[in-house]
Amino acid sequence: PPLIEARHLDKRFATGTLAVRDLNLHVEAGEFVSLLGPSGCGKSTVLRLVAGLEQPSRGRLRLPKAEAAVGYVFQEPTLMPWASVFDNVWLPLRIAGCTRERARDRIDTLLQSVGLQGFAHAFPAELSGGMKMRASIARALVRQPVLLLMDEPFAALDEITRQKLNDDLLAWWRTGGFTSLFVTHSVFEAVYLSQRVLVMSHRPGHIVEEVHVEQPYPRH
Ligand code: ADP
Ligand code: ADP
Repeated sequence: PPLIEARHLDKRFATGTLAVRDLNLHVEAGEFVSLLGPSGCGKSTVLRLVAGLEQPSRGRLRLPKAEAAVGYVFQEPTLMPWASVFDNVWLPLRIAGCTRERARDRIDTLLQSVGLQGFAHAFPAELSGGMKMRASIARALVRQPVLLLMDEPFAALDEITRQKLNDDLLAWWRTGGFTSLFVTHSVFEAVYLSQRVLVMSHRPGHIVEEVHVEQPYPRH
């Protein structure tokens, strides 16, 4: 069965805005799928529905099992400014009951793999935009999620930093075993990263086209 399956999904907000109408979507475990569309077409709403942060107004939505971890990465790094990189990344484990000592090896390895070795004790304000994003991704990956949801994560970064993060994200996805659902309004980014691009259009938001992309990297 697919990891995510949406059938005839509507989302109307209390304000009356119909953000999503009759949206059909399926994502298989292990895929890298992008949701591509203009600003305001409902991409974030779809991601929030998939994360369980919003309830659909109509339709059916199959999500990963409740006990499976899901990681969420926003465009603005939402790191706690008063906490070190280590403590920020530790937070999801801490909430799950894991002590600092038991978390240490996992976090050291993870910081190394996202390119933040040596920065465990740094504070967010000391980091560049790209490095803050790396820390946010580490925090999203620390519980070994089955699904990584990303909402225009690199949109605010300069082109070079963004390209480096695109390449690194692909490497983490290839070795990490998680499924990626990536929201972007960049055609280039969607086609560069994904095996499948779901093109959204607005008023109200729905998927108008699905594009399969032949990638130079292997599927797993
Ligand atoms: P995108 O991510 O593609 O920019 P969004 O999903 O953020 O689009 O928004 C889709 C539409 O839903 C927009 O018209 C937006 O104003 C509206 N919307 C988003 N969130 C809310 C909310 N919490 N309450 C009311 N309207 C919302
Ligand atoms: P990124 O591409 O991850 O945003 P940058 O291009 O901003 O990284 O920074 C390049 C390198 O400079 C980083 O990998 C890091 O080693 C170093 N660096 C950036 N900010 C700091 C800092 N505040 N203290 C020490 N080294 C830094």
